[in-house]
Amino acid sequence: MARKKVKIDQSLCIGCGCCAGTYPDDFQIGDSGLAEVVSGEAEEEAVSVCPVGAISEE
Ligand code: SF4
Repeated sequence: MARKKVKIDQSLCIGCGCCAGTYPDDFQIGDSGLAEVVSGEAEEEAVSVCPVGAISEE
């Protein structure tokens, strides 16, 4: 599996936690209740885990 640089559009994120639950090393839910990318990279499949399309490749 390839790792890619990813970003989160926090204006779209609904804080569902799917990304952090599926890829806990790559995403976390921040104090704001919205997702953050831990290292700036994630498995490229992680883009499709978000139900609102907030995760995208950079
Ligand atoms: S899966 Fe999408 S909507 Fe859910 S917390 Fe992650 S970025 Fe936000």
